[in-house]
Amino acid sequence: MKDKLKEECGIVGVINSTKNNYASFLVYQGLFNLQHRGQEGAGIVSFKGSEIVYHKDFGLVNNIFNMEILKKLKGRIALGHVRYSTSGKENPNNIQPLIVNLPKFGFLALAHNGHISNANSLRRKLENEGAIFQSTSDSEIFLHLIARSPKDTLEERLEDALDRINGSYSLIIGNSKGLWAIRDPHGFRPLFMAKIKDGTIMFASETCAFKHLQVIEIRELDRGELLFVDLEGNIREKVYKKEKSRFCLFEFIYFSRPDSLYNNKTVYNYRKDMGRILAKESYVSADLIVPVPDSGIPAAIGFSEYSGIPLEMALIRSHYIGRTFIQPHQKEREGAVRMKLLLIGDLIKNKRVIIVDDSLVRGTTAKRLAEMFRKEGALEVHLRLSSPPLIAPCHYGVDIPNSKELVSYHYTPEEIAKLLGFDSVAFLSLGGLVSILPDKGYCGECFGKQVVEREICIKELRIV
Ligand code: SF4
Repeated sequence: MKDKLKEECGIVGVINSTKNNYASFLVYQGLFNLQHRGQEGAGIVSFKGSEIVYHKDFGLVNNIFNMEILKKLKGRIALGHVRYSTSGKENPNNIQPLIVNLPKFGFLALAHNGHISNANSLRRKLENEGAIFQSTSDSEIFLHLIARSPKDTLEERLEDALDRINGSYSLIIGNSKGLWAIRDPHGFRPLFMAKIKDGTIMFASETCAFKHLQVIEIRELDRGELLFVDLEGNIREKVYKKEKSRFCLFEFIYFSRPDSLYNNKTVYNYRKDMGRILAKESYVSADLIVPVPDSGIPAAIGFSEYSGIPLEMALIRSHYIGRTFIQPHQKEREGAVRMKLLLIGDLIKNKRVIIVDDSLVRGTTAKRLAEMFRKEGALEVHLRLSSPPLIAPCHYGVDIPNSKELVSYHYTPEEIAKLLGFDSVAFLSLGGLVSILPDKGYCGECFGKQVVEREICIKELRIV
């Protein structure tokens, strides 16, 4: 059990310009930059003519791949995936990209970020029809639907499959002829395309994957958009189905890397703005602001800038301890929190402190922090969160525990303050959050609002 949310994955696809036969090197670089989206396993599939070469394993990108392996992954078309999962961890077949050999069309490889919400019923139906699944991953459903579609062309089959799938998906699909990049009709999960100076086309979950490349153009795929790029670099674009925009708010709050861009603005700066609005909405007189590293830092800076209260990095993250949620028992997890976050006591002694973090899940970490700060002599300890209260699970690919485990589902901010040992607890309002984000619709199901229409939300909800 963990006290931070986890994304399900990151995806990358590359079609090299004619001079270069190593798309896999760029995919590797992209996956390395998307490591924060999944640390459990990674894979790269490369198309070498009509054949494929691939390498997948458990672990981190730079442990799985080395120069020798990458050199074997020759080809001008390659795609890759980093994975985080909640179930079937031990099953190597779940590591993506998933591969299928279709009698009429040859090899097809698929990398998926998201979650199919009608997966159970589709899987049951497909199994009853004789489909044999190799993995426990919902992503395999795409391949079975494509394989069994009665349509003639591969693209028609692909659209036929998408038509039957509900939920969230950003997809990169490759074969020997090219790459498809697809975003679901609501646009839950991000997906970008970059044109590189040498003519290479690259797709990735976040713009940070294009780092250090000579990019001449980056564009976000529209919701419901399907792009196909062939080996000559020709791009075919089409919107196959468009619904209300429901982009995941947690990409801004926590998932996306701070240097990733949305509407030409870095996630870091969006987070700073969240901190400013948070300070506006829930100011309290204090001597010091302390961010919870690393995700609370930009919002704490924004909070400090708006409120004029100085910021100190009194909490330091130890980089030599594993993730707290891996610990099997609650006691061990609590111990891990203490070891993971180190407090510089003399900075906070006899001070009124505001701790700023991005979100509150179960409250395990926050409770330990309150204890640590009081033990070191803080006079007051307030908690400010740069997201609204989490009250419901996510059905679109983010591992949020069920409502009963979410502290905000049960208690008001005042009750949470009492329970966890703070003088006060306050959250950023939903209206406050979307007021600083790009003008589109968002998903806020985990905050208790299925569709967040930005303008309506700003009017309806509290903004001080
Ligand atoms: S429910 Fe929450 S975490 Fe899931 S997609 Fe919607 S905003 Fe993102």
